Amino acid sequence: MQLTNLGKWKIKVIESGDFKLDGGAMMGSVPKVLWDKTNPSDNLNRIQLAMRCLLLDDGENIVLIETGIGDHFSEKFKEMFDINQRDYSLSNTLSDFGYSIKDITHVILTHLHFDHAGGAVKKELNGEMRPQFPNAEYYISSKNWEAALNPNPKDRASYLKENFTCLKDYNVLNILPDNVEILPGINTYVVSGHTSGQQLVVISGNNKKLVFCSDLIPLKSHLKLPWIMGYDLNASLTLKEKKVFLDLAANNNWILYLYHDPEVIAVEIKEADNYYEIINEYRRRN
Ligand SMILES: [Zn+2]
Repeated sequence: MQLTNLGKWKIKVIESGDFKLDGGAMMGSVPKVLWDKTNPSDNLNRIQLAMRCLLLDDGENIVLIETGIGDHFSEKFKEMFDINQRDYSLSNTLSDFGYSIKDITHVILTHLHFDHAGGAVKKELNGEMRPQFPNAEYYISSKNWEAALNPNPKDRASYLKENFTCLKDYNVLNILPDNVEILPGINTYVVSGHTSGQQLVVISGNNKKLVFCSDLIPLKSHLKLPWIMGYDLNASLTLKEKKVFLDLAANNNWILYLYHDPEVIAVEIKEADNYYEIINEYRRRN
């Protein structure tokens, strides 16, 4: 199946590259004998993840949700996370659809972890950082902005200040309360188990909703309730938030858009004996 438009919003799947993270850290308390079947690991125990941004275009506003990891990292960082931008990169995918970075008017960041927000900025020749999208306003929740500036020791390594402080300096950052409308048909849905103030994005149109699940449901495997990342700051809060969210998704036929799944772009689910069952799947074409 292919994702189509939602009301007035044209939808484009913007693959920005793949990378790898430790499989155990991604799956928390789930034993490797279970997760290795669905998410096979390499010789360093790392599993494959996508960074799949989403573009929405209503003819007037061109909205990008998430920016990928960017391109201003060291060779060591690239190796550690096996970052692969040969098959997909943000600028190439945008131009495949006829867009350039100058066209983007709104950049919504779910949270400021480097694999979501690194592409929000670029490094100039003199080493200074500046916003990557010259004509865009940026949107983050106030809780996550505070969390990024004063990170919890557990996810401090994921908040790299060079990825976001210049957005404030350039006066392009909009710091939002929880659960607000950014544009007609584009609302935030804030959850805090993964990290404080992560804003999911709900796009509404034609009596249908598509939700950008970000790190509440990073991989298809995380649709199973007890599969919760070891990275999460508060796993029991994630469990509660996932249950409420997935019940709503199942009862209202929401399309769940997956940022990190290497094969599956989005799913629709229904309630089932074993948590939830997938009734529709939108797959990446390799
Ligand atoms: Zn994250």
